[in-house]
Amino acid sequence: MKKGIHPNFVDTTVTCACGTVMELGATVPAQRVDICSSCHPFYTGTHKIVDTEGRLERFKNKYAKSIPAAKK
Ligand SMILES: [Zn+2]
Repeated sequence: MKKGIHPNFVDTTVTCACGTVMELGATVPAQRVDICSSCHPFYTGTHKIVDTEGRLERFKNKYAKSIPAAKK
């Protein structure tokens, strides 16, 4: 390896929003992620809406008034 051009590779702890903690190697000491293989719908097989930024809630609030009016 050529000296002085490679980032420092360290053992890191990756913590997911679901609570899963993984130990692996990276160039940063600690990371937080929103989704991992333990909670991603592709791996769990369950259909779950991933909405970490509240977009779905904003959409529901926006159209909450018009939906009951349409049903009457
Ligand atoms: Zn997770």
